[in-house]
Amino acid sequence: MKAIFFRRHGGPDVIEYGDLPVPSPGPGQVLVRVKAAALNHLDIFVRRGIPGIIVALPHILGSDGAGVVESVGPGVTCLKSGDEVVLNPGIDCGKCEFCLKGEHSLCVSFHLIGEHIAGTYAEYVVAPEINACPKPAGLSWEEAAAFPLTFLTAWRMLVTKACAKPGETLLIIGIGSGVGVAALRIAKALGLNVLVTSGSAEKLVRAKALGADGGIDHSPGAFSREVRRITGKRGVDIVLDSVGKATWKESIASLARGGKLLTCGATTGPNPEEDIARIFWNQLTVYGSTMGTHAEFADMLGMFRDGRLSPVVDSVFPLAKAKEALARLEEKRQFGKIVLRVD
Ligand SMILES: [Zn+2]
Repeated sequence: MKAIFFRRHGGPDVIEYGDLPVPSPGPGQVLVRVKAAALNHLDIFVRRGIPGIIVALPHILGSDGAGVVESVGPGVTCLKSGDEVVLNPGIDCGKCEFCLKGEHSLCVSFHLIGEHIAGTYAEYVVAPEINACPKPAGLSWEEAAAFPLTFLTAWRMLVTKACAKPGETLLIIGIGSGVGVAALRIAKALGLNVLVTSGSAEKLVRAKALGADGGIDHSPGAFSREVRRITGKRGVDIVLDSVGKATWKESIASLARGGKLLTCGATTGPNPEEDIARIFWNQLTVYGSTMGTHAEFADMLGMFRDGRLSPVVDSVFPLAKAKEALARLEEKRQFGKIVLRVD
């Protein structure tokens, strides 16, 4: 089968397009003929090599994908050849204490399609049956591939962790990223007011076209003063900061009393300057979050199915042009998801 893979970790030049054997589904697994896959920043980290995560080489990238079930392994009961599915990238053991509580993304052996095992940048991918969910009929293949990882991540943070309510104000740091755009979509669907920051005037304009209530240029650094000005000195209820070191202290300074700070990543570094006095005096809560549970994925899927949620596709490349697609992501030129068409 045609696939995008690398034989050694490194920069953009290690990416190859070529032929690899079609995998076969094991017990409880399905083989999916991929129609579309989507890029995530994770793919770049995996290509460079993540300390502590050893992948079998050659490694196929890609956590997001949608396609048609080609065949099923022994013991698969709910899916059959021909079913149209979208993949939940998070794989859990189903047996540990966290899985038994339904907290699948806390699983002691939690891993992702495309991070620890072969991914979706290929004509075929294998996944556990439970991870292959019915594709919402109203979405194109490109749209179906574009939402799983980022929308699930944003959904868990906003709905489960922050318990976001209509009328509350959310500040999204660095709009344009997959998770940031997903959070904007979800927050508007839930009736929140949404402020966004970006260093790009064009991205602020695009965010407003998607419903953002205000945009702040974060390139001067001290964006919390502008947040205070917009909110009448109060600050916002929730901040989503996956940027990390470069923006963390300003994110804390942007929160109202009792506010909630959400993090699912730290693209500029994991060790920021902290403001502990403001955290305890203003009684702030910091929530770390990764991916989500099967129940959260199902809840979110329901909103895609009835048309209340839709992803934002930045651009579509053929599978063979994945190198160009990855360059667009690495240069942060995208707004929303970059998708690969596989068939
Ligand atoms: Zn588990």
